[in-house]
Formats: sequence, C-alpha cells, structure tokens
Amino acid sequence: AGQRLAGKTILITGASAGIGQACALEFALAQPHDLRLILAARRVDTIREIAAAITKQVGDGVKILPLQLDVSKPDEVRTFVDKLPEEFKNIDVLINNAGGVRGVETAGNIAEADINVMFDTNVTGLINVTQAVLPIFFARPDGGAGDIVNIGSIAGREPYAGGSIYCATKAAVRSFTDSLRRETINTKIRVMEVDPGATETEFSVVRFRGDKAKADATYAGMEPLTAQDIAEVIVFNVTRRQNVVVADSLIFPTVQA
Ligand code: NDP
Repeated sequence: AGQRLAGKTILITGASAGIGQACALEFALAQPHDLRLILAARRVDTIREIAAAITKQVGDGVKILPLQLDVSKPDEVRTFVDKLPEEFKNIDVLINNAGGVRGVETAGNIAEADINVMFDTNVTGLINVTQAVLPIFFARPDGGAGDIVNIGSIAGREPYAGGSIYCATKAAVRSFTDSLRRETINTKIRVMEVDPGATETEFSVVRFRGDKAKADATYAGMEPLTAQDIAEVIVFNVTRRQNVVVADSLIFPTVQA
C-alpha cells in the first residue's frame, strides 16, 4: 500500500517532535523511493536533524524540506506555499498535527495568554494551513484531489476537568473536519480525523510547563501509546484505495488505569 504514496508530496505540521516526527519516518519507510516530505515547525534546527536521520535510515529517495513555520502566525501561513521551492509546491497530503495543551487550570483560572495560544495553534492555525493548501487540491481535475488528516484528540470527545480550553479546541477541530468533509464530498479530496488517547511525547511536558516529574505522573499505572502507534494509523489511513475514506479514528491504550 505504501506504493500509493509514490511521487507524492506530504506536508506535516509540528514535525519537530512526537507524533509529527514519527509520521515523517513512517511515511518515509512506507515509500522510500519516491516521496517528498515538507516537515514544518518552529524549531527548524531540530527538523534538520530529524531530516538527516531519516535520510540516513531510508536513503535519498525521500526528499525532505525542513520548513520553519509557526502555524499560529497568520502572516507566515498565508505566504509559505508561495515561497516553497517548485518541486515541493504540489502538496498531495496535509497532516495537520501541530498543536498542544497549556496548563491544567480550571476554566475560571486559565490565563488569557494560554487560551489564545491553544486556540491560535490548535484551531485557527489548523484552519489557516488548510486554507493555504486547499487551492492546490482544488486546482486538480474532477473538482479536486488530495488528503487532509486533522489530528484531534480523545479530549474533543470526552472533556475532562482542568482541560476546558484544550478540549474545546479539539471539539472545534472535530467539527471543522466534519464540515470540510461535507463541503468536499463531490471531489476526490479526502478529509480524515485521527484522535489519539494518551500518547507519550513532549505533549505532557508542555502541558506542565516543563515539569517532567508531573508529566511522567500522567502515565502512572498505564502503558501510554507511542508516537509511532499513531503514525502507523495515519499512514494506513492515507494509503487506502482512493475511493476509501477512513473518516474517523479513535486510538487509545488497551490498558488504562
Ligand atoms: P509534542 O509536544 O511532542 O509535539 C507538538 C509539535 O507541534 C511539535 O513538533 C511542535 O514543534 C509543534 N508545534 C507546536 N506549536 C506550533 C506552532 N505554533 N507552529 C508550528 N508547530 C507547532 O506533542 P504531540 O506529538 O503529542 O502532539 C501532536 C498532536 O497530537 C497535537 O495536535 C496534540 O494536541 C495531539 N494529541 C496528543 C496527545 C498526546 O497524548 N500526546 C493526545 C491527543 C492528541 P515546535 O515547538 O518546534 O513548533
């Protein structure tokens, strides 16, 4: 099925860590001979290291473009497609993965700055990147073609105390995904959502503002998913036959406390 990726260009946001980084490797392993990856995040130096490691592992059949892009900055998002080198412009697959959670305060106490970061990144950023890429999809024959995978969360379905804003952002992603799928139903554009449960990445460290001990305690009594577990599902979904849309995937650890 990896052959279905031959010749494709894939943009992954938030590719400098966690699920996005794992996706980059899984896509490269699935089609190591003829693939282009645009790996975007704020930490572009980290992405350069990731790109070098992937090339070392799979060879140079996978062309990788490290891209510095802050999805929460509308001006950057509006212009990045035009600035892409010609051989990376024809994006076929968009993995809207950049995002995260800030803090565990209750709704009455959460700081305005944290609310803004979460909405600007998880919701507005995801929408803006989608808007930047859609014209490429719509320019293709038969009304358009291309794949969009939005990374939501179990938090968008099962809100928890101390997560009001994060959960709201992920519910918004879910709603946006479902609307976009309906808006593109007469095209060959596939719109998919992947919702991870507890997955061990930098996510929890960011949530607790760098406190690694608190972050680790999140996973006490359970075996969390790995970023690779999620990446494998994303690659599987994208490599289905063109007429198949795996619209919705919810993934969580088998054993949870
Ligand atoms: P990580 O914190 O490990 O990675 C987050 C990635 O997003 C990093 O590459 C970071 O890169 C990037 N990012 C954050 N803000 C921006 C921004 N403004 N512009 C561009 N890139 C940005 O977290 P995960 O891999 O776990 O998270 C990936 C996605 O999965 C998120 O949407 C998250 O909400 C979701 N998710 C995670 C779960 C988990 O348990 N881990 C559970 C459910 C959903 P940089 O800092 O370099 O910009």
